[in-house]
Amino acid sequence: MKQNHATVPEILTLPMIPLRDAVLFPGMMMPFLVGREYSLKALSSAIENDRRLFLAAQRSAQVTNPRLEDIFSIGCVGYVVESIRQDDGNTKVLVEGIERARILEAHMGDHFSVTVKVLQRSAEPDPLLSERKTELLSLLEQYAKRVPGFSAGAVLPHRTDNPGRLADLVIAYLNLDINQKQDLLEITHPGERLTRVLAILQQEIGKLKVEKKLDSRVRKQMERAQREYYLSEKMKAIQRELGRNEENIAQEEVDEYRKKIESLKLAEDAKEKAMGELRRLQLMPPMSAEATVSRNYLDWILGVPWSETTREIQDLRKAQKILDEDHFGLEKIKERIIEYLATRKLSKKKNAGTILCFAGPPGVGKTSLGASIARATGRKFVRLSLGGVRDEAEIRGHRRTYIGAFPGQIIQMMKRAGTINPVFLLDEVDKMSMDFRGDPSAALLEVLDPDHNKTFLDHYLDTHYDLSHVMFIMTANVPHNIPPALNDRMEILQLPGYTEEEKVQIATRYLIPRQLESHGLAGYKINVPEQVIRHIIHHYTREAGVRNLERELASILRKIARKIATKDPHERTLTIDAARKFLGVEHFTDMDREKTDEIGMATGLAWTERGGELLFTEATLMNGKGRLMLTGKLGKVMQESARAALSYIRSCTQQLGLSTDFYQHLDFHVHIPEGAIPKDGPSAGITMATALISALTRNPVKRDVAMTGEITLRGKVLPIGGVKEKILAAHRAGVSTIILPRKNEKDLSEIPANVRKDLTVKLVDSMDEVLPIALIKPLERKRKKSRPGMTPVSRKKTKKEVILPQ
Ligand code: ADP
Repeated sequence: MKQNHATVPEILTLPMIPLRDAVLFPGMMMPFLVGREYSLKALSSAIENDRRLFLAAQRSAQVTNPRLEDIFSIGCVGYVVESIRQDDGNTKVLVEGIERARILEAHMGDHFSVTVKVLQRSAEPDPLLSERKTELLSLLEQYAKRVPGFSAGAVLPHRTDNPGRLADLVIAYLNLDINQKQDLLEITHPGERLTRVLAILQQEIGKLKVEKKLDSRVRKQMERAQREYYLSEKMKAIQRELGRNEENIAQEEVDEYRKKIESLKLAEDAKEKAMGELRRLQLMPPMSAEATVSRNYLDWILGVPWSETTREIQDLRKAQKILDEDHFGLEKIKERIIEYLATRKLSKKKNAGTILCFAGPPGVGKTSLGASIARATGRKFVRLSLGGVRDEAEIRGHRRTYIGAFPGQIIQMMKRAGTINPVFLLDEVDKMSMDFRGDPSAALLEVLDPDHNKTFLDHYLDTHYDLSHVMFIMTANVPHNIPPALNDRMEILQLPGYTEEEKVQIATRYLIPRQLESHGLAGYKINVPEQVIRHIIHHYTREAGVRNLERELASILRKIARKIATKDPHERTLTIDAARKFLGVEHFTDMDREKTDEIGMATGLAWTERGGELLFTEATLMNGKGRLMLTGKLGKVMQESARAALSYIRSCTQQLGLSTDFYQHLDFHVHIPEGAIPKDGPSAGITMATALISALTRNPVKRDVAMTGEITLRGKVLPIGGVKEKILAAHRAGVSTIILPRKNEKDLSEIPANVRKDLTVKLVDSMDEVLPIALIKPLERKRKKSRPGMTPVSRKKTKKEVILPQ
């Protein structure tokens, strides 16, 4: 090779072959095929002389007969190492590149003949060469590692100290396009060429790295796809083995749905909807999310009852018997229920008439009456608590366009009932609230309206559903909180609460046998004597109903059951001591009333959601300027009522034996204990007035008198509500006399006779009548010289008395 170099003069004339798609570099061995006529001639001419020729790349490989301007002017002088003529007329040539050279002149005879000038014959020494060489070699190695079939070793034996030659050697192995190669060929400065090669090498390695990354990602994806394909094929094969495939599983499902739709007596509209959905399901890929939504819908529409009924008991005597079996007392309520059933039986229109609503405090049996009606009429029983329902969608469901939509509570409950004619108890209608999401009571109205509930529309089912066979019953704690529109549709039956006597009866006849049964104690002859029940009522409960009583009894029986199960000795007849041991510390003392008659302390009566309660009202006086202080979380109406009471007192000082300016030296404080519980309403008016007058006149209030009534500025006593609950509470607490507004006389007919006989009810029109009944001593009219705020009563002071200013 070296001798070839040495023999090349600087200017020389050679035959030329234009190269398509290749660039020859000095030092590079290149095989190629010669087929074109003029090229073959150039080759012959070279072989005939000194085997040298000039090889330059065509600008475009597509040109078959290139002219001089179609050929790059810089090319490479080559030496023909070998040439073999082939049968097809082409000649296979192997040339070795010798020097890069530029065409100076060209002639075209039967072949190209060019005069060229050799470029950069001798290598200039490069001071950085050794460094760059190391870099080049390491890059080359990295490159070789990444290109399959390329070995750096193939390049390395040609190690040279000529930087230009080194660059040329490496270029030969790089995967570059013609233009890039030609560019490199034309860089005559050896150092510059080496720099370019290093840059290209780095770039190429970078590209290869990215490609590798992509490659592995693509491979992973392909692997996953293949795996899935493999598994699904395998699944199909298994199913084929079992005689089923995906399509016919889906088909089976569709067929099953269809059969069900046909067998159930769906309403026309619902059937159409279900069939439509089924058609849609058939077109969906069986495992898709839409298919699941579709299936859910079909399950719901096929899950609610469309025609299933239970046979109703028409025999009213039997119904009465069942009601009596389940509940003690409540005669009027039961009577009304039977009437209601009778009207329904006779009426053609099944749901005609009003809807019954049981109203009363917790634990008086509202829910269990509902269940009892279901039993008495042979219907299923479902209960929906409306407490906290504030959204129309809770009643009517969400449209299916919402993700995760489902039917409203009415349809859900109907599914649970499984029949179209259950007793449907709507619990706590008064606790339903409304907000921006729509008024649930409007939806409820449609549910209850016999003219509309045949075609109740649930948003989810999106089809009419017939509720006309359902017997709706409602319950409420506080009837006046029931939304007015609903109130008009219902008949309210009040269950005000039980007397102690009734509670004892309920416990003995109903609660205890039921609890014995449910604790597996029926055969053990456990006896809970009456006095123990009374003790529990007095000391562990304070309620209008019997819920806590039932809970406490259950608690005792549970403990006895445990003793029996663990073979501990146990008592057959429960004693008060044993009850105390089982239930722990007593929650309430025997009497809620004061033990002594107190000054400034009057007993009022309050109505609460839990039934009636005693409301102790304290009044004290302090040095001051006539300010009225009120504590105990009193509501606005109650505060006004206290102010009215004070104004009344100021308007009749003489009658009360007070000086006209008594308030100028005093501040008044009215407090109603259990301060954390909010209280409101006008009915404590006379109680607060009595407490204040008692404090001012130092005349104690009789402890066994309880009172309720609104006061006017002129001392008139106006009627109030909740009389029955209040009287029962007073009776429970052992009060003997009750002061009641005369206008409430009519309410007394509701009071059970045994309660009435224990109580003296005094009906009053004005405060004038209240005071002689409530206060220990008769009032003394003011005597001319008495001191302000001071009464002539002289008694031993009790702790709670106030020392009045002298
Ligand atoms: P409410 O619905 O009014 O809160 P429940 O119906 O839950 O009350 O009654 C609480 C418990 O007391 C139930 O076990 C119920 O059977 C029982 N109960 C209430 N009143 C009576 C009664 N008059 N006779 C028998 N058991 C009763």
